[in-house]
This record gives sequence, C-alpha cells and structure tokens, in this order.
Amino acid sequence: MVDPDCLFCKIVKGEVPADIVRETERTLAFRDINPQAPTHVLVIPREHHRDAVAAAIADNGLLDEIVREAHQVAEAEGIAETGYRIVLNTGPGAGQTVFHLHAHVLGGRGLNWPPG
Ligand code: C5P
Repeated sequence: MVDPDCLFCKIVKGEVPADIVRETERTLAFRDINPQAPTHVLVIPREHHRDAVAAAIADNGLLDEIVREAHQVAEAEGIAETGYRIVLNTGPGAGQTVFHLHAHVLGGRGLNWPPG
C-alpha cells in the first residue's frame, strides 16, 4: 500500500530525494536530514504502515527485516561492535512526526539513558 500524501512513500517512489545507504526488495535505508548522532540512518519499509505496531499486525516478518537491516547499517557504519540504538517513535506523544514506520539507527557517540 502507498499513501500519496506520505513523505516517506514519496522517498520510496523517488519523488523526494534522500541519501540512500541500503536497499532491499522490501526496505530502504537513508540518512536522516537532521542527524542527532554521527550515524543517524532511518530504515523504512517500502510499503506504507503508519507505525511499528501497524506493521507488526499487518505483515508478519517485516519488523524482523527492519531490525536486520538496522544491524547491516550499523555494521557498514562501523558502530555494530560498540553498540547503537534502534528507536521506533510510536505516536505523537513519543515524538513521531512522520507516520510511515521508520527505525532510527543512532550511534557513533555516547548515548544517554533515559532518552529525552
Ligand atoms: O520519529 P520521527 O517521526 O520524529 O522521525 C522523523 C525523522 O524523519 C526525523 O528525524 C526527520 O529529521 C527525518 N526526516 C528525514 N527526511 C525528510 C523528512 C524528515 O530524514 N525529508
């Protein structure tokens, strides 16, 4: 499914530019335009799902693939051994601003806990 008004669907279709670092049949990974760490990459499904929960309900295995891709990104960025964070903001109260599932892959600096 594609949502014609969705920004990340437009990135999938190539209508909005993005700095793409990895692609698979079902996923895309690109650098966040407003990076919060030396590595800040978003991994998204090509298909439109509003958030991680919607994707988990609709498509068995898609979230697993997103996480595997996040790890591939971390390996390629050289942050897999040190450790990195996968963030799935879910809902406006958690800071989700784009309602197309995206996993933030963050690393390359010390990451505080609890997050802000
Ligand atoms: O989790 P949240 O919905 O807040 O994350 C959306 C992310 O998408 C932001 O980190 C924002 O910088 C990023 N973004 C992007 N490219 C765009 C628009 C937003 O990387 N064209």
